[in-house]
Amino acid sequence: MSTIYAIANHKGGVGKTTTAVNMAACVADAGHRTLLVDLDPQCNATVALGVSKHTRPTVYSCLSGELTLDAAAVPTAIDGLAIVPSTPDLAGANVELPRLPGSETRLRDALGAVAEQYDYTFLDCPPSLGPLTVNALVAADRVMVPVQTEYFALEGLAGLLDTLGLIQRELNPRLVVGGMILTMHDGRTRLAQDVEREVREHFPDLVFDTVIPRNVRIGEAPSFGLPVTRHDPVCAGAIAYTALAKEVAARG
Ligand code: ADP
Ligand code: MG
Repeated sequence: MSTIYAIANHKGGVGKTTTAVNMAACVADAGHRTLLVDLDPQCNATVALGVSKHTRPTVYSCLSGELTLDAAAVPTAIDGLAIVPSTPDLAGANVELPRLPGSETRLRDALGAVAEQYDYTFLDCPPSLGPLTVNALVAADRVMVPVQTEYFALEGLAGLLDTLGLIQRELNPRLVVGGMILTMHDGRTRLAQDVEREVREHFPDLVFDTVIPRNVRIGEAPSFGLPVTRHDPVCAGAIAYTALAKEVAARG
């Protein structure tokens, strides 16, 4: 069985890329064939896994229909984890995609049978609900929403769920909201505790038990081109992402 996860939230800096990179690495470490697709022109997932943002080909060629995703996938330092890199040029896709035929299904088409070669595919989305994120949501089986436990966390979440419902109805009936992941949590602050409680009250069935703490090692790992589990396997961040990957796999 192959499952495709989109990691999406229109807010920037909430831990989408960090979650995509580290969950993908944990799942690969557990022995699953795993693919990560970087859909953000900022190329943060690409660089975080030690791959240059000047690597070619990229996901752009896949969206334009020249290549299937396996032709653009490159191996990473993690056994069993490949990445389809992004490029800063992908910013142009936001303009081009809507003008192409089948603009919303381009990623799904490029994934096609390729997804079957992987047990898990993770799609790291840009911080908007634009054409690239729509492509990810159309290609995905499940969407995961990282939520930073800060003031304004709830703001926009109901709207995001409405948009996900619209995509389910209009474009991808397979899409399931797989869950919300509380990220960058500083359990010492009253604010973070309040936000966690509020998000859990509002979305009792959606929020994962595992909470990702704010952790220096998580923040510095990308500068080494490594997931946190390789950068410092025993830090709180590595332990949390390993637990999250198990919880996600168990939820299916
Ligand atoms: P997004 O992809 O949603 O824009 P990122 O995953 O890039 O967000 O995270 C934003 C910034 O916060 C990055 O610099 C990242 O390294 C850092 N970061 C993410 N999660 C954590 C965490 N749990 N602890 C500390 N820093 C984090
Ligand atoms: Mg990102």
